[in-house]
Amino acid sequence: LRLTRADLDALPNYVPGRSPADLARELGLPEAIKLASNEVPYGPLPGVVEAVAEAAAGVHRYPDMGVVALREALAQRYGVAADRIATGCGSVALAEHLVRATCLPGDELLYAWRSFEAYPIIAATSGATSVRVPNDAGHGHDLPAMAAAVTDRTRMILVCNPNNPTGTAVRRAELDRFLDAVPEDVLVVIDEAYREFVTDPEVPDGLTYLDRPNVAVLRTLSKAWGLAGLRVGFLVAQPEVAAAVRKVVTPFSTSMAAQAGALAALAQADEVERRCAMVVAERDRVTEALRKLVPAVPDSQANFVWLPLGDRAVDFGRACEARGVIVRPFAGDGVRVTIGTPAENDAFLVAAEPALG
Ligand code: PMP
Repeated sequence: LRLTRADLDALPNYVPGRSPADLARELGLPEAIKLASNEVPYGPLPGVVEAVAEAAAGVHRYPDMGVVALREALAQRYGVAADRIATGCGSVALAEHLVRATCLPGDELLYAWRSFEAYPIIAATSGATSVRVPNDAGHGHDLPAMAAAVTDRTRMILVCNPNNPTGTAVRRAELDRFLDAVPEDVLVVIDEAYREFVTDPEVPDGLTYLDRPNVAVLRTLSKAWGLAGLRVGFLVAQPEVAAAVRKVVTPFSTSMAAQAGALAALAQADEVERRCAMVVAERDRVTEALRKLVPAVPDSQANFVWLPLGDRAVDFGRACEARGVIVRPFAGDGVRVTIGTPAENDAFLVAAEPALG
């Protein structure tokens, strides 16, 4: 008896990484360090826990399906009209909704590879055909090759900027050229999950491209804003695109706790900026230390660094785990390491040195 689609068997699972509690137990340590999911290590922002607790009093009712207050707050913060915004259960859900809103079975979803591991899963489960364009020698998007890969079946392109897992970012001049080359009826989605960590002034804010009707921007409150557990992402696009996404979204998928926590977080922009500056300082310190061991570590504009270790990636991941540090290996390719607190980063660097020797 077969009840589910046979093609799902061939799909990889989204890997959340192993649990720090399990690893600590296995190693007999008081705790393990998790540098595997690109979270910011400083805990919830002030006011978030209280706002979620307050919202809890109303959970016998459905949340506001229009997400009006949160969309208004986002509109104000980012200087766009609220009808251009849709929220979702993490930006990963919005990426899926966008594919559902643009691609019919057999239509092509184009993206760089390696990039965010959810993209091929979203394409396959939505019936779209994945077209992957290999990254360039510097581990970044090869935008000219991506433009050349557009066909008359291409409906949507994902540009992950900065790119997960390599941390590389495309700059304004190359993105301008790329957008000029892409046909107007192809939606270009700039996935900016890590935008708040960008320090290179040449790396453009995707929101500055919204005068181009075929550009949409994905953002998340999971990373810099510290709300990974509440699941809030948002899309900024043409009103028609945002409305189409609101149509395909699972009803009520931005929960009451998520809406309340997100509103409280958005009131803490100064604290977010302070935290991002600490992450960036640590990113640069860790990059410099790693380059003594692996010279090819690319510059990162995100809150993680990429070790292009090729066939050594899985062994390196295991060696770090044996020393109580969980990182994210991608077999045969490289290892992504999230920037944690200075003490966590030191523990990682201590683990990395013998593992690379
Ligand atoms: N886009 C990118 C590039 C990511 O790395 C992630 C999280 N790993 C997401 C989107 C999704 O984040 P969330 O669903 O938590 O908003």
